[in-house]
This record gives sequence, structure tokens and C-alpha cells, in this order.
Amino acid sequence: MMGDNHSDIYTRLDPHGEVLAQRYSTYFAPTLKEAPAEAEIVSHKLLIRAGFIRRLAAGIYSYLPIGLRSLRKVERIIRGEMNRFGAREVLLPAVQPAELWKESGRWDQFGPELLRIKDRHDRDYVVGPTHEEVITDIIRREVRSFRDLPLNLFQIQTKFRDEIRPRFGLMRGREFIMKDGYSFDLDEVGAERSYQAMFNAYQNVFRRCGLKFAAVEANSGPIGGSYSHEFMVLADSGEDAIAFCPQCQYAANLEKATAPAYPITPGPIGQPLDKVYTPNCRHVPELARYLNVPEASIVKSLLFFDAQKNPLLVLIPGHREINLVKLRDALDGFEPTLASPEEAEKIMGVPMGYVTPIKAQTRIWADQGIERLKSGVAGAGEKDYHYLNAEVDRDFQVNQFLDLCLVEANDPCPKCGQPLDIKRGIEVGHVFKLGLKYSKALGATVTAADGSESLIVMGCYGIGVGRTLAAAAEQNHDPDGLVWPLALAPFQVALLPLQIQNPNVLAAAEELLDKLTAAGVEVLYDDRDVRPGVKFKDADLLGLPLRLTVSEKTLEKGGAELKNRADRVVVTLDLAAAPTEIVRLIKAFLAPS
Ligand code: ATP
Ligand code: MG
Repeated sequence: MMGDNHSDIYTRLDPHGEVLAQRYSTYFAPTLKEAPAEAEIVSHKLLIRAGFIRRLAAGIYSYLPIGLRSLRKVERIIRGEMNRFGAREVLLPAVQPAELWKESGRWDQFGPELLRIKDRHDRDYVVGPTHEEVITDIIRREVRSFRDLPLNLFQIQTKFRDEIRPRFGLMRGREFIMKDGYSFDLDEVGAERSYQAMFNAYQNVFRRCGLKFAAVEANSGPIGGSYSHEFMVLADSGEDAIAFCPQCQYAANLEKATAPAYPITPGPIGQPLDKVYTPNCRHVPELARYLNVPEASIVKSLLFFDAQKNPLLVLIPGHREINLVKLRDALDGFEPTLASPEEAEKIMGVPMGYVTPIKAQTRIWADQGIERLKSGVAGAGEKDYHYLNAEVDRDFQVNQFLDLCLVEANDPCPKCGQPLDIKRGIEVGHVFKLGLKYSKALGATVTAADGSESLIVMGCYGIGVGRTLAAAAEQNHDPDGLVWPLALAPFQVALLPLQIQNPNVLAAAEELLDKLTAAGVEVLYDDRDVRPGVKFKDADLLGLPLRLTVSEKTLEKGGAELKNRADRVVVTLDLAAAPTEIVRLIKAFLAPS
């Protein structure tokens, strides 16, 4: 028997030297009754309570043995799919010289999220938050000819991002493990093909992890193009909102989703401007109530500053919220700042709430909905007054109409017009067509077939490995603890002998252990001398998919008791038949659906 020559005879190894079965009494799997106070969401609470992770500092976590087993399973699934789709694994350094980041321009563009360090010679380095620079540097040195392309390289490696608000445990850490991959192609067509291959690989990864997820259109930021998708695990605690069409399956991150926000023209058009007294109506709802008009007939004026610190007046329909990501994109990636009430009053001469586009000296952008508002309510540029019958073009001019509103539930789907749903999700993966951004900045070219020098077309692809594990926990739990999908469970079976002093119980359990491990089943063998209740509680908390109990009682019935963690169904199995039945169940669970 494998492992027999070792004193710890219950640690069984597989042919690669990986632990197949582990006895609990010599393991290191500390469980807790209570979650720490800072744990806000269930996955964070349970991963700590079940002894998967421990916090070292804000956003920095250690994986304990049982947590590392599940993490390795996520990694193995990712690695398998990367290999299947022709990506090659590398391992790049965590510490990167600042020069590369200066070359790409990101030394200046990145804010405090980038951890900058100095070595003993006072040279600048960064702890990598991502690896476009490093990988492009390798490629520009090593790849010369179109014949060397396409190329797709990935790694599974530790990143550091000094997140402003690390939280939710592994979900938004500062130090975290990412699979990041980069594709290199000769042209657009090739890049498209690489993108599609990674898209398919990601679908496989998250399906094999047993997750309920959706691939959604994502905002591709200032780089532009429609080539960005996020893989979202659906969960109420997710930080992202997704617009979904139940009819045609359109799915987009709310940051990116588009839907017309139709305003309502309340009365006849062509009426002259009419200044009305509107005391204490600084906000749309009060104003709508006071004037007895729909919120959608009010022009909401917001004052921002652009990159040059010039004021920019932005108009949106009153019943809508502004989508700051869309505004940022329209400003070529510059994060707009909203003017404070004092600044607004100084520039526009009236308190916020009465600001008007009429005769405004600033540049004006408006949501496309405003163009359809034939006559509406707008600020009068005077405290406590608004105008009725304000008309675009006649009374105020707009420099540019854009799509600037945040989509809301029941807005018409941009593809089929049916009402949209809003759901919440956790972004576990991101595929992105980079184009020439880094090859241009760092000078990564190849000689094309016709002898000309051609910039390499890139794509980048990321999966949060720890975040995927946390997302799985978020999606699979019940009041007693974790309920792992089989593919990510640290062990497949918890084997519980209840009276270890009884030689019959022990002998039966160990025979089961032998047979299960011989069949390649991963077992956590709870040989601890503790009360049955403790073993049951811990087994539930750890969330192993199958629990096999052997006790004086089950032996009287001629067998062992098998409980399915997910549906809690209990069956008694014949001792001899139990291993075969368990292998059958595992195969059925793991079979692709
Ligand atoms: P987010 O919007 O959540 O900050 P991001 O867009 O910054 O994510 P990418 O740069 O695309 O993330 O990184 C690829 C993947 O790495 C993400 O899809 C996510 O799964 C993971 N990831 C990013 N930031 C973190 C973090 N702070 N902690 C854990 N995982 C992360
Ligand atoms: Mg981020």
C-alpha cells in the first residue's frame, strides 16, 4: 500500500506524490465557531471558519493546507484549459524594474494602486499588478519573424495592487493570485482568433469549476473597441451590476450597457420660456412633486471638470443617474471630477440645483435622451426659480449628444427591446483585446512575409484564482457551512469512524479508506478522538461533497451511511458496495453537463 512505509500511514499519496487521503488528527485544519468581525460576506466568513485562509494584514491572506488544496484545483482546471487551447505556461517575476513601466507610460498613469519600491541602490521597482510590460519585453527581444506567431503565454502568479478598499477576503485582496495570459498575433484576424480561443477556454474553466456564470460585454475603457468580455459569477453580494435580457440573452456590465433613457415632454411645444418660483426644490424629486411634472421632463444639470480643469456642464434626463464610466470614456479616459457645491456656485453664479444650460458660458454635453425632450423643465440660473418650456436648440445649445445614462431595470434591451433585468455578479475573469497599445509603446515588431516590419497585435486574459474560489463559496453554502462543487472540494469524501476505540468500527473504516484511495478517491479521514457531533459539524462546515459514516449503529445495519452534503440525502450502503457506489457518484458529478 502506498504510504505504508511512512509512520503516518493515513497520508496516502497518488502516483505524483500528491496527498490523496489525509488523516484529520495530524492535519492542520483549524476550524472556528465564529467568524471574525471584519468578515462581511458569507464566503469570507466560511473560508476563515473552515480553516481555508487566515488574514495577515489588510487584503493579504495565507492559505492553510485545506484551502491550498482547493486553490490548486482551480489552478489545475485553468492550466488544463490553457494547455488545451495552445497557451504555454511561463512564470514571470513579481518585482519589475520601473524603466519598463516608464516606457509604457504606466509609471505615471497608475495611481497609488501601484506598489513602488526601491532597492539598496535607490533604483525604482514595482511589485507587479499585471504583466503586460514584462511579457512584451520578452517578446520584443525573442520574437523576430511572422513565423514565430501566433504565440500565447500564460502564468499563474502572485500580483499586488494596493486597492483603496480591500475587502471580502480573497475577493478583493491587495496580494492575490491571478492567471494572466497574453496573446501575440501578426494581424487583426489572428488576434480575433486568439481572443475567441481564450473566450472558449474561459467558458470551459468556469463550467468545470461548477459555477453559475455569464460572459458579459465589458467596458474596454480608453483603449476602445468592442473586444472585452467579463466572466461574472452570479451572486447577490457581487460588486458588479449586469444588465441582462431574459429574451435574447444580451448581457453587459452596467458600466457598458446601453439603453435609451426616454424623457417625457409634459406639455405642448413651442411655448415661451416661463420662469416659475420653486422654493427649496434643489433636487429632481422635490421639483417634480412641486411642479406636478414627471421627473423625466426635468433637465438635470451636473457640473464637472475635465482634464484641463475646464468646467463641463453635463445634462441628463431627470429620472436618470449618470454613468461616470461612460463620461470618463468620452473624456478619453480622464476621470471627471464633480464640482463641489461651492465651485459650482462660483462658476455658474447660482447654487447647485438651479444651474441652467440656458446662456451658460461652459461647454455642454448631454445625454442623447435630452435631444428628444422637446420642451422641459430646467434651472433658471437664479436661486429658487426654474424655467418651464425649455427647448433644446431654441433656448440652449448642446456641443455634443452622447450616451451617458446608467441603464435601469426594465429599460428596453438594445438588441431586442424587451425589458432588461439587473443582476449582480462577481468578476472572476476578463478577456481583452489590447491591439497595439503595448507593442507600440515598447516596440514589439516582427518581420512580415513581405519583409516589412509589423507591430504585433496583442490580447490579454485574466482570471482571479483566489477570487474564483471565493465566488464558488459565495454561490455554494448553506447555514451549516460550505457546499463545494465536487471539482473544487479540497477532498471528495469525508470518512467518519464514530467510535475509534471499537476495533470493528476502525477496521471497517480503514478498509473503506484503502478501497477508496485505491480507486483514486480523495478522502479526509476523521480519525480524531472527538464526539460524533463535533465530526459532523466540522464535516458540514468544510463542505466536502460526500460524507461516509461508519459507526456501531451503521455496522448493525450491515454497512456505512452516505450523506450527500448538497441535498442532505442519506442512504445506507453495504460495506462492500460503498466504494464502487462512491466512485460512480463522483464520475457522475464530474461528467460534463
Ligand atoms: P476589478 O474591477 O474587480 O478591480 P480588474 O478589472 O481590475 O478587476 P483585471 O485587471 O481585469 O481586474 O484582472 C483580471 C482578474 O483578476 C479579474 O477578473 C479578477 O478576477 C482578478 N482580480 C482583480 N483584482 C483583484 C483583487 N484585488 N483581488 C482578487 N482578484 C482580483
Ligand atoms: Mg481593479
